[in-house]
Amino acid sequence: MERRAFFKLIGISAAVAAGGTAYACSSGHGMLSLVPTAEDSSAYRIANDPQVSFSSEVDVLIVGSGIAGLSAAMAPAEAGHSVMVVDKLDLLGGESFSSNGIMRVSGSAFQKAAGIDTTAIEAWDARKQELADEGVPDIEFAKRLFVTAPDWIDHLVDTYQVELADPRAYVKGGGLSTVLLPKNGLGDMESFMVPLRNGLANKGVAFSTGLQAVAFIQDGGGAICGMRLLAVKNQAVSDIRAKRVVVATGGFASSQPLIHAYVPNQEQVASYTFASMGEGQMLCSGVGGKLAGMDKAGPLTGRVPQSCAWGMFAPAVIVDLAGKRFAREDDVNAAADACHADDRGHWWTIFDKQLIESSQSRSVAQVTAKYVKRLVGPCDTLDDLAKAMFMPAEALKAAFEEYDKTVESGKDEAFGRTLFLQKLIAPYYAFRQSPVRYKTRGGANTDGEGRLLNATGSPVSGVYCCGSVGASSLEGLASNGAFGMLVGQAVAKVLAEEEGSDVSSASA
Ligand SMILES: Cc1cc2nc3c(=O)[nH]c(=O)nc-3n(C[C@H](O)[C@H](O)[C@H](O)COP(=O)(O)OP(=O)(O)OC[C@H]3O[C@@H](n4cnc5c(N)ncnc54)[C@H](O)[C@@H]3O)c2cc1C
Repeated sequence: MERRAFFKLIGISAAVAAGGTAYACSSGHGMLSLVPTAEDSSAYRIANDPQVSFSSEVDVLIVGSGIAGLSAAMAPAEAGHSVMVVDKLDLLGGESFSSNGIMRVSGSAFQKAAGIDTTAIEAWDARKQELADEGVPDIEFAKRLFVTAPDWIDHLVDTYQVELADPRAYVKGGGLSTVLLPKNGLGDMESFMVPLRNGLANKGVAFSTGLQAVAFIQDGGGAICGMRLLAVKNQAVSDIRAKRVVVATGGFASSQPLIHAYVPNQEQVASYTFASMGEGQMLCSGVGGKLAGMDKAGPLTGRVPQSCAWGMFAPAVIVDLAGKRFAREDDVNAAADACHADDRGHWWTIFDKQLIESSQSRSVAQVTAKYVKRLVGPCDTLDDLAKAMFMPAEALKAAFEEYDKTVESGKDEAFGRTLFLQKLIAPYYAFRQSPVRYKTRGGANTDGEGRLLNATGSPVSGVYCCGSVGASSLEGLASNGAFGMLVGQAVAKVLAEEEGSDVSSASA
C-alpha cells in the first residue's frame, strides 16, 4: 500500500468554506450521514478531492498572516526552523493590517525611553477588573498576555525594526500613556507589519498568499501532520507536510452563518471585515478541538473605524440623530455599542481644529478626504451645524450646554469619559457613523502554550492556535501579538527538544 494512503483529511470543503458553513468529513464526528451504514463507506470519496500528496515539507506551517501568525513565526524562524506562512488573501497582514493600530502596552523599554514609567504590572492592576467584568474566561492567561506584550513590542522594535509613534506626541496633549501607535498614528499598520514581514522573510520564512487552508491532514497514528490548501483563484490543491501547524486565522465577524448561530443579536449589523470567516474555529472543531465562548458578543465599531478612536486623542462630542449625547467619546466602542443597543441608527462625531491639529492629524485628513459624504462643516455656529446635520438646533444646543457644564465640573457623571474634557470651539465639523461588526469573542480552547485542546482538555497532537481564533484571545493587537509570540516560542522549544532526542538516539 502506498504510504499516502495512511493520511486522512479532516476539514471543511472549499465550496462550503467560502459560504462559511462547515462539516466534518471524518467518520466519528457524525454531523451528517451521507451513506447507508450497512455499506462499506470506504468505497466512497468526496468528488474531486484528490488523495493526499505532499508538495512541500516544513517544520512549522502557520495558517494566517495577521499579527498573531507573523508573531508566531518569529521564534521558530530565529531558531533556524523552516517556517511557511500561508494566507487565503492576496495580501499579507489580515485584519491586523487594516486595524486602527492602537496597542495596549505598558512597561516596554520603548516607552521607558520616552519617559513613561508605568510598569506592566501597574497597568495590569488597573485593567484586570475591566477584563473580569467583560467575562474574560482565563484571567491568568490574560495577565500573561498583558505582561508579555511589552517584551513583544521590544522584540519587534529591536529585531524587526518595526516603527512606532513617539508616545510623547499624544501623551503630552492628554492621551493615554498605556497605548502605543504605529509610526504615523491611527491606521498606519503598514509601518508596523511590513518591517516584521520583511524581517521574517530575511530569516527564511516562506510566504504564500491566495492559499486557503481547508483540511487538516492526519497521519496513521492520528497526529496532525499537515494541511490541505486550495488556491483561491483556481482551486488547485497543495498538501503541505508540517511537524507543527499553527492556526492563526482570526475571528468570525465576517461569517454571517456563524454570527447567526452564535451572536444572533448582531446578525442585522453590517460587517466591516471580510476575511474573518471562522474557518480556523471550524477546522479545529473538526479534529476534536473544543470551541468556547463564541456566543459572547464582541464589541462593535463604526463604519469608518479610525474616527471612533479620535476621541482618545482630542476633544470630540458624540450625539445621536436627535442631537443627544449618548456615549463616552474616549472609548472606541462605546458609541457603536450604544447606537446598536438602542437602535439609534447613526451617530455624529463633532470636532474642531483641536482634533484636526492633534497628534492624529494624518488620520483626520485621510478619513475626511475619503469619506466626504459623511462629513459636514466647517460650520461657524451650532445653528448652522444642526441644520447641516438635519437636526433641531435647540436639541444640539442643549447637548452642548450640558457638555460644557461637564467640562466645567471636570467629571462626566453621565458617561464616565475621562480624556480631553475640553470645550469645542467654532468652526465645527461633524462626521456621520453607523455601527458595524469587526471582531468576535471566543474560539478554540488552548492550553498555556497554545496547544489546541479537545473536550476532555487533552491536546490535539500537532496543532497550536493563537490570536483571535483562540478562546483565550483578548482580541487586541498587542495581546494577539503576545499570544503569537508565546506560541512560537512553545513550538520552537518542542522542536528543539525533538531534535535533541533525535541526536541523542542517533548517537546512542
Ligand atoms: C477595522 C479594525 C480596527 C481594529 N482596531 C484595533 C485597534 O486599534 N487595536 C487593537 O488592539 N485591535 C484592533 N482591532 C482588532 C485586531 O485587528 C485583531 O484583534 C487582530 O488583528 C487579530 O489578529 P489575528 O492575527 O488573530 O487575525 P487577523 O489579523 O484577522 O489574521 C487572520 C488571517 O488569517 C487568514 N485566514 C483566515 N482563514 C484562512 C484560511 N482558511 N486559510 C488561510 N488563511 C486564512 C485571513 O485572511 C487573515 O489574513 C481592529 C480590527 C479591525 C477589523
